[in-house]
Amino acid sequence: MFEKLFGRLRKDIGIDLGTANTLVYVKDRGIVINEPSVVAVNTKTEQILAVGNEAKEMLGKTPPHIVTTRPLISGIISDFEVTEKMLKYFIDKVYEDSINFMSRPRVVIGAPLEITEVELKAINDAATNAGAREVIVVQEPMAAAIGARMLIREPIGNFIVEIGGGTSEIAVISLSGIVTWKSIPIAGDELNKNIMQYARERFNLLLGEKQAEEIKIKIGSAIELGESLRFPMRGRDLVTGLPKEIMIDDSQVREAITKSLRTIIENIKAVLEITPPELVADIHERGIVLSGGGALLRGFDQLIARATEIPVRIADDPLTSVVRVTGMLLDDEELLSEIAIKMDNRKAS
Ligand code: ADP
Ligand code: MG
Repeated sequence: MFEKLFGRLRKDIGIDLGTANTLVYVKDRGIVINEPSVVAVNTKTEQILAVGNEAKEMLGKTPPHIVTTRPLISGIISDFEVTEKMLKYFIDKVYEDSINFMSRPRVVIGAPLEITEVELKAINDAATNAGAREVIVVQEPMAAAIGARMLIREPIGNFIVEIGGGTSEIAVISLSGIVTWKSIPIAGDELNKNIMQYARERFNLLLGEKQAEEIKIKIGSAIELGESLRFPMRGRDLVTGLPKEIMIDDSQVREAITKSLRTIIENIKAVLEITPPELVADIHERGIVLSGGGALLRGFDQLIARATEIPVRIADDPLTSVVRVTGMLLDDEELLSEIAIKMDNRKAS
């Protein structure tokens, strides 16, 4: 009974812990945090200087003793600590010291597919240290598929491609479980790097990562567009060392990123190849769904449809769908328990 009484006072939350962005959803309030998963650390003192938007602003502008890191993609042990601190920072920001013993929240967290035991434990500990009473982790592609209104509980092949910042996760889901999948480190960040490399090789232009991302979002595309798009690329001339501006157009950006797009498509095909034929038949009929920020690249859906000969659609609001689902799961015990990653079982091993 107490549970019920205090349950109402609790502000249960859902978190999308992405490689590029972390979002937090609070029950009855909606999305309250949507910030980059970036942390700025002072390497002399090991202190965290900034998290989220503030840390991203520092990217490429730091003195040698300050390092901005994206803790979820660098994949070295020490960064799990930073992940923990980042998570605690965001959770604290939501609660503003208003957690007390009775109102400790439940937290549903969407995490990458190939999460390790250590990372799972780090997430669990971080959320617990930040005041969570219970931490439930769900796999991001699963949440993305639910967000795209796919029938994941049915004995049906549901094909989801979640293209984030650090990873693209490709999964086939049936009966609330992931049947076949691949997680590859080629996603939004890699496209930015491709554009930086193109600028360097083609124009001797040193381009910052934020600039490259802006170019990708403003004029990037996977297929030829109806009209040509242009954008001024500003960086440093590698020969003269001076600032330089060069107009780049959509066909050049396509040239820069095409190899990475091909790699993602090859991996989609590879997942289809290892998927049982009954499920492949469903997928042919029902199509492929793209989610995550990378799904917004112009024409990527069409390029994938052409290459696989399977219809492709983009999930609604692909940047926020995972966090909205984690929020929704707070009210759906049955589905939540079906898809949760079993933390305790794992700990025992
Ligand atoms: P994660 O779940 O890994 O945090 P997100 O789903 O938040 O990633 O997606 C972030 C990625 O999506 C970034 O690489 C960003 O550049 C890219 N992105 C966002 N909007 C667009 C857009 N309109 N076109 C192409 N890429 C985009
Ligand atoms: Mg994501």
